Amino acid sequence: YTGKTGTELLTEKIKQFKVHEYQSVPIVVKEEASVYDAISTMFLEDVGTLFVVNAQAGLTGVLSRKDLLRASIGNQELDAIPVHIIMSRMPNITICYRDDLIIDAAKKLINNQIDGLPVVKETDNGKEIVGRITKTTITKAFVELIMDEH
Ligand code: ADP
Repeated sequence: YTGKTGTELLTEKIKQFKVHEYQSVPIVVKEEASVYDAISTMFLEDVGTLFVVNAQAGLTGVLSRKDLLRASIGNQELDAIPVHIIMSRMPNITICYRDDLIIDAAKKLINNQIDGLPVVKETDNGKEIVGRITKTTITKAFVELIMDEH
């Protein structure tokens, strides 16, 4: 018997959850893609956050549902607007790395009031997107934590 309390054991377990164990596949669009294309991709891929990349596949921006809604209101020419005009852009993109703790990624979602984070790898061409952490990811980890008790 370790003498640890239930809370201590739970804390220890949560601190073992790493981003790479729970990350999902990132869905990306190019900077030159139109708002129309991005909306189509969001529906087809069934995601709420898209990541935007340059020609070298480096992360340049993020598109949320509301970014695309905002761009669509009162605008007839969604095919003519490239997403780089309306996206949230680097260096103001909140990121995480594969070896980060899930709890730290969760804190970033809360503190920045966002739904998703790109998981990135530093390369010579910038930040390569290797995964995606979302509120759904955190919910899954949470449920797994509880269900594993039984
Ligand atoms: P929604 O806008 O649909 O409510 P979010 O809460 O995720 O979705 O996004 C809020 C704003 O924050 C949007 O303008 C979006 O572009 C931006 N955003 C989303 N994710 C990130 C991120 N990882 N880093 C920086 N900005 C982000």
